[in-house]
Amino acid sequence: MNPKNKRSSSWRSTRAISPATRCAILHRDGFACSYCKTVLPIKGAQLDHVKARKDGGTAAPTNLVACCGKCNNARQHNQLSPLAVLDALIRASMPIDRVKGRELAREHYPARMKARAT
Ligand SMILES: [Zn+2]
Repeated sequence: MNPKNKRSSSWRSTRAISPATRCAILHRDGFACSYCKTVLPIKGAQLDHVKARKDGGTAAPTNLVACCGKCNNARQHNQLSPLAVLDALIRASMPIDRVKGRELAREHYPARMKARAT
């Protein structure tokens, strides 16, 4: 193994969400916006922090849902219905399939997955 590949620990300490986690969240959320249910392409999807980072929300999958740019923006301005937000909260509490996430990430982010391989 190449000792130069020791980046992973610092990578993980950042707030960045790995491609595998991102894909697993999109898979859990049915590749659709959690608020308006618009179908999202994997690379065009955004992730919304259900509990905002400024309020102490983390980048854990239980605090992230797939969403479209329009709803992400509306959410930042408190313009989404409380019911849609509640629905997203429940969705976020569902477990993610990490095996499926890695599978999707290998397919959609091959370069980044290679860089992270250990
Ligand atoms: Zn939406």
